[in-house]
Amino acid sequence: MKQADINWVPSICPFCGVGCGFLAGVDRGRLVALEYLTEHPVSEGALCPKGNAVLDTVHHADRLLHPLKRVGEGFERISWDQALHEIAEQILQIREAHGPNALAFLASAKCSNEENYLMQKWARVLGTNSVDHCARLCHASTVAGLAKTLGAGAMTNPVTDTVNADCIFVIGSNFAECHPVAARWVGDALEQGAFLMVADPRVTPTVWHADLHLQLRPGSDVALINGMMKVIVQAGLHNKKFIASRTSGFEQLRELLKTVELSEVEEITGVPADAIEEVARHYATAQASVIVWSMGITQHITGTDNVMSLANLALITGHLGRPGTGLMPLRGQSNVQGACDVGALSNVLPGYVPVTDFERRRQIAAKWDVTELPATPGLTVVEMMNAAASGGLHSLYVMGENPMVSDPNVQHVRQGLDNLDLLVVQDIFMTETAELADYVLPAALWAEKSGSYTSTERRVQWQPTLVAPPGEALPDWEIICEMGRRTGYADQFALASPGAILAEINTVSPAYAGITPERVQALGGLIWPCPDEDHPGTPILHEEKFGTEDGLGHITSASYRPPAETPDEQYPLILTTGRLVLHYNSGSMTRRTKALLSREPRLFVEISAADAAERGIEDGDLVRVATRRGHTDCVARVVPTVAAGVVFMPFHFSGTNILTSDALDPTAKIPEYKVAACQIHKSFQ
Ligand code: SF4
Repeated sequence: MKQADINWVPSICPFCGVGCGFLAGVDRGRLVALEYLTEHPVSEGALCPKGNAVLDTVHHADRLLHPLKRVGEGFERISWDQALHEIAEQILQIREAHGPNALAFLASAKCSNEENYLMQKWARVLGTNSVDHCARLCHASTVAGLAKTLGAGAMTNPVTDTVNADCIFVIGSNFAECHPVAARWVGDALEQGAFLMVADPRVTPTVWHADLHLQLRPGSDVALINGMMKVIVQAGLHNKKFIASRTSGFEQLRELLKTVELSEVEEITGVPADAIEEVARHYATAQASVIVWSMGITQHITGTDNVMSLANLALITGHLGRPGTGLMPLRGQSNVQGACDVGALSNVLPGYVPVTDFERRRQIAAKWDVTELPATPGLTVVEMMNAAASGGLHSLYVMGENPMVSDPNVQHVRQGLDNLDLLVVQDIFMTETAELADYVLPAALWAEKSGSYTSTERRVQWQPTLVAPPGEALPDWEIICEMGRRTGYADQFALASPGAILAEINTVSPAYAGITPERVQALGGLIWPCPDEDHPGTPILHEEKFGTEDGLGHITSASYRPPAETPDEQYPLILTTGRLVLHYNSGSMTRRTKALLSREPRLFVEISAADAAERGIEDGDLVRVATRRGHTDCVARVVPTVAAGVVFMPFHFSGTNILTSDALDPTAKIPEYKVAACQIHKSFQ
C-alpha cells in the first residue's frame, strides 16, 4: 500500500476519558494505519498502549454482524425488521402489564453524547427514569459531591493546566497507568519543580514519581483529609479571605475538626501523623495546588463524603478558580462525562436537571412534545440488578455495557438477568452479558459513526465516520431512533443525523447551547460551559463564583465512617481492585487485542510477601480468592507494592467482580468496589 493512497482523518481515542487525538489512516474503506497528531491540545502526539492498539478491534473477526434471537441455548439470525418489531412489541406489552417502571435501560460511556441523549429520552418518554450507565459505578460520587459543594459535578481545570501547579496531591488515582497521557502533564510540572504527593494503598507507577507517598488503608480517605484540614486550620494556614468571601459552612467544619485527633487519624489510616502534617502544609502553602483523584476515592460507601472532603480542602485553602489549582476527577471512559451531561443518569435530566424539579421537567417535556415526564428518580445500575433478582424489573435494554463483568457481585447480577422477561443487548461483540440476552443487536463502533464525545476535562470533540460498519451493524443512534419510533414516539425520534440530535441537546442543556458539529470539528473542540455560538468555551470553572444557587462554595463537613466490610477471622484480608495500563473497562475490546492480551493475558492477585508466606503461597501459584459473595481462581503475584493485609486484583477479567461488594454509597448509589474482606489460599485444582 502506498502512503499516498491513505486518507488521514483526525480522530479521538475511544478508550479512556483523556480524549487523546490521532490521525486515522483510511484506505479503500478500511482503517489501515494510525499516525500521531502532534497538534492535538491534550495528547500532543502521544498515545498510550491502548491508543496505539486502537485499530485492532475495528475490523475484528468477532464483530457482531446480524441481529440475533435466542433459541434454546443458542441464537438464530433474524432480520432487523423482525428484531425491532418483536422487541418493541415486548417492551410495550411489559409496560402495559407491569407499568413503565418494569422497564430499565443502560446507556453507555463508550457511545456518543447523541446516543446517550437518545437512550435517556426514550426511557423517559416511555415513562421511567430507570436509565443509568457505568458512571454510576465509577464517578457518581464525584458528580454528587462536586454538585453539592461547587454546584458543578465536573473537573474544574483542564488536564493541561496541571503543568501550572506547584503542588499536586493525588489520592486514589494511579494515573501513570490509567490515564498515561494525562500523566505527561504532571511530568512536565515536576520538571518545573512541582511537588507531588500520592495517597494510595499500593506503591503504583504513579508513586514512583512522588516526593511523598502516604500508604493509607483502603476506605480511610475521609479520616486522612480531615486530618490534613485539622493541621491546616490549627496552624492558621487556611485562606481566611477566600473563606469569608466565597464560601459557606466553615464554622461547622471548624467544629468538626475540633473532634479530630491526629493520633486517631494515624490509627485509622495507617499513615504517620508527621506525614499527614507534611502533606497538609505543602498543599496549603503552595501558590497553586491541585487535587487529582479517580476511583480510589469514588468507589466507596463514603464516595460522596470523600469527594466533598476534597472539595472542602480546596475551599478552605482557596485553591480553586485559578490556573494550576482545582479539582481533577479523572474519568475512566471516553464519554462518561458526556453521558452524564446529557442525562443518562436515573436522577437527572439533560443539564443535570433533577427529575423532581417540576418546572424544569415541564419545560423539557414541552421540548420533547410529551405531556409529562416521570417525576421520581429511577433505578440505578445496582438497584436494577436487585429489582430484576426480586421480580420488580421485567425488561432491561443494554447499549454497550457489560454488567456480567463490570458490575459488583456478579453472581447476583446473573440471577437478576436470568429472571428478566426481556434482555436486549446492543453491542459490537458477543459480550458475557450478550450471551444471556433474548436479542442481540449488532452496533457500529466509534470509527463507523459520527458524533460528539466529552472528555474528562469537559472538552467536547467530534468523531467523524471513517469506515462503514461490518455486516448489518448500525450506529446506536439509528437503532434507538428506530426503537423510539416503533414504540409510539415517531415525532420525538424523527432525528436524521447526529448533528440534528446535537441541535436538540443545544436546546435542553445550557452548557452545550453553543456546541455545534461545525465548531467541535475544529481540532481540540470546545470545553463546556459554552452557552452560545460565539462563546469560546470555559477551561477554568469557578473563577468568580461557584455554580451553586448562591454562588458560594458550600463547605460540607463529613465525619469518618468505616467501610461496609472490615476484615475478620474468616476473611482476614482487604481486597481492593483497579485498572492496568494494558486493559480497558470490562476488557471486551482489549481482551480481543493481541498486542495487549499477549502482555497481560489473565487474571492475577497481588499479595504481600508476608501474607503469601503465612499461607504457603509462592509467586506464580494458582490461588483461590474468596469473599462472602463467591470465589475465583487466579495466579498469585507476590509483590512488594501492597502492604500486609491488603491484596489487589485488576477488574478487566471475568472473576474479579464475583468477589466485590454491592454495598452502596447512600447518596450516589455507587458500590464499594474498593474494599471487600477476603481470604486467599493455594488452589489445588
Ligand atoms: Fe486513549 Fe486514554 Fe491512552 Fe489517551 S490515555 S491514548 S485517551 S486510552
